[in-house]
Amino acid sequence: MNWHYLSVKEALELTDSSPTGLSSGTASLKLQQNGPNTLQEKKQKSWLVIFIGQFKEFMSLVLIAAAIISGIIGDLTDAIIIVVIVLLNAVIGFVQEYRAEKAILALKKMAALQAVVQRDGQPQKIPASELVTGDIVLLEAGNVVPADLRLIENHSLRIDESALTGESVAVDKTSDELSAENIPLGDRINMAYKGTLITNGRGRALVVATGMNTEIGKIARLLQDEEAATPLQIRMADYGRKLSLVVLGICAVLFGMGLLRGEEWMDMLLLSISLAVAAIPEALPALITIALAMGAKRLAKQNALIRKLPAVETLGSVSYICSDKTGTLTLNKMKVVETYETDNRIAELAISPLMLVMALNHDVRTTPENTLTGDPTEIALVEFVKEKEGDKNYNDILRRFPRVAEIPFDSDRKCMTSVHGFEGKYLVLSKGAVEYISEHLRTGEKNTAIPAESEKFASKGLRVLAFAGKILDKLPEPFTVETVEKDLIFAGLAGMIDPARPEVKAAIAECRTAGIKPVMITGDHPATATAIAREIGILDEKGLVMTGTELRDMSADEFAEKVEQVCVYARVSPEQKINIVKALQAKGHFVSMTGDGVNDAPSLRAANIGVAMGISGTDVSKEAAHMILLDDNFATIVKTVKEGRRIYDNIRKFVKYIMTCNSAEIWTIFLAPLLGLPIPLLPIHILWINLVTDGLPGLALAREGAEADVMQRPPVKSGESLLARGIGLHILWVGLLMAGVTLGVQAWAINHQQAHWQTMVFTVLSLSQLGHVIAIRSEKTFLYKQGIFSNPSLLLTIVLTALLQMVIVYLPAANEIFKTQPLSLNELLICLGLSAVVFHAVELEKWVKGRVYSPRAI
Ligand code: ATP
Repeated sequence: MNWHYLSVKEALELTDSSPTGLSSGTASLKLQQNGPNTLQEKKQKSWLVIFIGQFKEFMSLVLIAAAIISGIIGDLTDAIIIVVIVLLNAVIGFVQEYRAEKAILALKKMAALQAVVQRDGQPQKIPASELVTGDIVLLEAGNVVPADLRLIENHSLRIDESALTGESVAVDKTSDELSAENIPLGDRINMAYKGTLITNGRGRALVVATGMNTEIGKIARLLQDEEAATPLQIRMADYGRKLSLVVLGICAVLFGMGLLRGEEWMDMLLLSISLAVAAIPEALPALITIALAMGAKRLAKQNALIRKLPAVETLGSVSYICSDKTGTLTLNKMKVVETYETDNRIAELAISPLMLVMALNHDVRTTPENTLTGDPTEIALVEFVKEKEGDKNYNDILRRFPRVAEIPFDSDRKCMTSVHGFEGKYLVLSKGAVEYISEHLRTGEKNTAIPAESEKFASKGLRVLAFAGKILDKLPEPFTVETVEKDLIFAGLAGMIDPARPEVKAAIAECRTAGIKPVMITGDHPATATAIAREIGILDEKGLVMTGTELRDMSADEFAEKVEQVCVYARVSPEQKINIVKALQAKGHFVSMTGDGVNDAPSLRAANIGVAMGISGTDVSKEAAHMILLDDNFATIVKTVKEGRRIYDNIRKFVKYIMTCNSAEIWTIFLAPLLGLPIPLLPIHILWINLVTDGLPGLALAREGAEADVMQRPPVKSGESLLARGIGLHILWVGLLMAGVTLGVQAWAINHQQAHWQTMVFTVLSLSQLGHVIAIRSEKTFLYKQGIFSNPSLLLTIVLTALLQMVIVYLPAANEIFKTQPLSLNELLICLGLSAVVFHAVELEKWVKGRVYSPRAI
């Protein structure tokens, strides 16, 4: 349908709508008939696909094949039990991955777009997916266009359609009927298309197509939205590949040595493959995703919505938090507390010009419940007028001076102008930043008291706005910023307070102990910014305040020299934020940057963690961000960094746990023949330890609480190896120790004619893992300080695993399957005692590390 070629009236008729939109009844009927306004996404993974995915690892398949072959040749129970263990492992993996998928899906739903629609004659906010043809939507700068629309009303709308047409320059729109029928999408300027971005203006439009019937739906029949692998996963996968080669090498040597010693080749093959399956960390990348997804779920509960999963891990490395002032560091609850008024009067009017600009120059709406909605700065002005003049006079003013044109506020220009009809003439009213207004006054008025008065307000931390106006006989042609915002007559100033959020001061102090530098970036006046930054602790004696103008006049090298000292940037435009991000990143910093406007999108994208505002943010900024703050609060960013560090620590912990266990097995099996001992373990034992003894407590480690010092140490260096800070060494030496203890038991038992030596070896190795997991719950804190009950799921899995081990040792049926024998009480006590060796050794490691690195830390 060529909607652009139709008049608004025809379009309304064709969509069974009216100038006031649809009723909710009709809309829900249409929604049922035509389906939701969503693009068909990549199909969600079904549970079957996730389950089968657990077996895709090559080594598991090789193992199953080998087990079946050996089962056919020899003992079938062996084969069956191996398959059962692999299945069990797959079930554990499946449950976790399924939960992670669900968590990610729920997050996506929470981040879904909203639209303001006119239903039953009232504007209301609904999920964009519920729009139907015939709905009338309200549009404003910052929105993502929610469906294909025919414009009905247009106020300087400009739309970036690059997603659809590839054209990077935003298009000016109109609501007029077009005369040409067959024209390309880019020329249909009375239309707005789903998925494009409104960069300027506001308007009203009729929904003409939804979901897959929209232009973008036609192109993207299948929208692929692959989650990219996180840096940690990439490193882990790469590391896993290298390790696989080493392990396969070891297995080959083992296999060769076994053959030379005259072992059965089928037994040796199965042992080597079991060891390879056990020692290659194939499951780790998946485990990392699960930990990140669960982390994202927890973060959502703390008011931070993760849009890109890798952000969870990057949070731990953040070293700079650059934050907006208004609304993030402050409450965004403005109140006019001081005004300054000139003697300038407009002869034709009885009311003071200052009051007039405040009353008329805004987009505040009054809801049926008589509350005000809109920009908090403007609400403060309207409230001030209502308080001084009374509701009735305010409403009279609105009626007397209907708005006929406007130039919307933008944070680059820092000004807004509205034009009102008045006795056949035009009343032009502007408000904005003091600098801007004073530069656009009529000649002769530029050097009045403005700077002195505004400085007085600003130094008290007040946000200052300047007001001006003029009367014109006719509107200038063309109607642009340059032709309208000039020769203004100054009307006065208003100073507003915007109190700091009460929790911000503590959050900033926490940043400092955590080695993170908080920086304020604001469009506000330097004096206002400085006063607030001092109050909340962002600015100290050594810190610098830099303005946007200074930044512009500086060379990149000069800026690079200063960037690390600047604590406050004032009067910067959103475009300059990207320079700040880049300069900090060039110094090796990990930068988190907040933003809410359309122009903030590039800097949010460039930042390591782009943070959009859930309440005041535009759709465009949300789309560009890695994370959305649901409460717009700076303190929440600090909380997320803490959570990010905790998650990173826990990932390190389970890597440490699983890899140490693997290392212990490799050492045990590899060293035994060199020491003249028989093969210590059967394939079933290895698989049991790895897939069950290891898997359950390993996962529970991801639930470990934050270390006591999480926010008292510097951020994790970006790109740090997972094995950094002693983990590589730990894996080697603790693995060797476990193997030593195990082989010691084996040698002793064989020398003392203990028929149960293999069961003892199996039990010692298995229980040692449990001792190990208890010890590595914290990297620094001793268990007696941490308490045994602080991670109940871990405790539960440990008890469960220990019980299972006893079942294997004492239940006759299990003895058959696992080739074990019941141990005597003495033997069991020996096993228990020796299993505790590793626990004590790792606690000792903490003590030694504490002594060497930071003697006061423990
Ligand atoms: P932050 O960047 O920390 O969110 P901010 O709200 O001061 O702070 P902007 O919204 O870009 O940043 O505003 C910059 C300046 O523009 C303000 O200091 C004020 O002088 C002016 N200003 C803000 N809102 C309006 C408005 N609605 N109409 C006219 N001028 C405004």
